[in-house]
Amino acid sequence: MAGIHIEGLRKQFPDGTVAVEHLDLEIADGELFVLLGPSGCGKTTTLRCIAGLEHQTSGDIRIGDQLVNGRRAGERDIAMVFQFYALYPHLSARDNIAFPLRAQSVAASEVERRVAASAEMLKITDLLDRKPSRLSGGEQQRIALARALVRAPQAFLMDEPLTNLDAELRIDMRTEIKHLQAELGTTMVYVTHDQVEAMSLGDRIGIVNNGRLEQVGAPLDVYRNPATLFAAGFIGTPPMNLFDVRVDGQALVGPAGLRLPRPAAATGTGLVAGVRAEWLGLVGPDDDGAPGQVVATESLGDETIYVVDVEGELLSVREPPTAPWRDGDAVTVHHHARFEPRVYDSESGRALGTEPPEDPAEASTPDATDRSVSTDPAHSGADAGTP
Ligand code: ADP
Ligand code: MG
Repeated sequence: MAGIHIEGLRKQFPDGTVAVEHLDLEIADGELFVLLGPSGCGKTTTLRCIAGLEHQTSGDIRIGDQLVNGRRAGERDIAMVFQFYALYPHLSARDNIAFPLRAQSVAASEVERRVAASAEMLKITDLLDRKPSRLSGGEQQRIALARALVRAPQAFLMDEPLTNLDAELRIDMRTEIKHLQAELGTTMVYVTHDQVEAMSLGDRIGIVNNGRLEQVGAPLDVYRNPATLFAAGFIGTPPMNLFDVRVDGQALVGPAGLRLPRPAAATGTGLVAGVRAEWLGLVGPDDDGAPGQVVATESLGDETIYVVDVEGELLSVREPPTAPWRDGDAVTVHHHARFEPRVYDSESGRALGTEPPEDPAEASTPDATDRSVSTDPAHSGADAGTP
């Protein structure tokens, strides 16, 4: 097993299309890393470059400590699973799974042992004699996964492998892939355009837009602290509310006078606030806050999402299921004081002063404390062995 290290990756196709603009990525050994981004942002091309199915225009790819730039796919010891399962229709499930091992001339008894073990893991032992045409989509995808597992590769690359499954099966398989990956401890790069899938699967998520990485972080970091307007508008259901604000003393002021706490770094003009639906609340008309009108309600059972028109700005507000509002109601929107909005520079699209938790100031705190303890004479005097 091995980590994957990508530096300055760029891929321009012969027709001039730049699929990957610039990508730096450090994926740790054993990590489940999700590359998330909209269709056409360069996810598949990135994976194909890692796999050696495509050659990058420039940049370096390392698998473990091996620079693999010039190596062909077959020399990289990586298994890739595609959105379309690409099983051989004339071969049984067993022979499909065994295929990569036979291609490597692995001994027959060893092939049998490893096929049986992979099939066991994916609970498809009783399907091994069937041809793909006699298997459901979900079963075919299990065969494709087993075929990837059977090689015990350095890393797995998964390109939207669950897209063609129905919603329920997709959730089951997602959980299963997560467990399998954890059990095997094999590095995995999983590509998806589905932010819910990314949030639930990834140890970390890398958000890609137009061939560039917008942000890398743990799912909750990315949710709480989107680093860019693009990330803020992409992650979360609903995504963050984004609207223009101006500074007014210690407050930020949005549509219809909606007041938000002002983070210290938010100064000047051209500011956009990013506010999660759960950071907003609704009260009756003529109360304190910004007047608006409910234009849509989405009841999710355990909560309700209201879309409120506030001076032409459509804001999503998350409320408990007991909230009384209906479409057309006049309401007042307020921002819960305990949350601080994210603030973005409208020009650069980047967050101001709302550094993700791995902020150097926070990360260095324990370190700084240690140092002050060890140099404090009162403490060092108490050390064992000091007279
Ligand atoms: P994603 O997987 O994120 O949907 P892709 O990596 O498939 O994106 O594609 C990124 C961009 O590169 C798209 O604009 C796509 O049209 C383009 N592209 C992909 N493959 C080729 C190719 N062989 N030749 C030219 N352009 C390509
Ligand atoms: Mg793709």
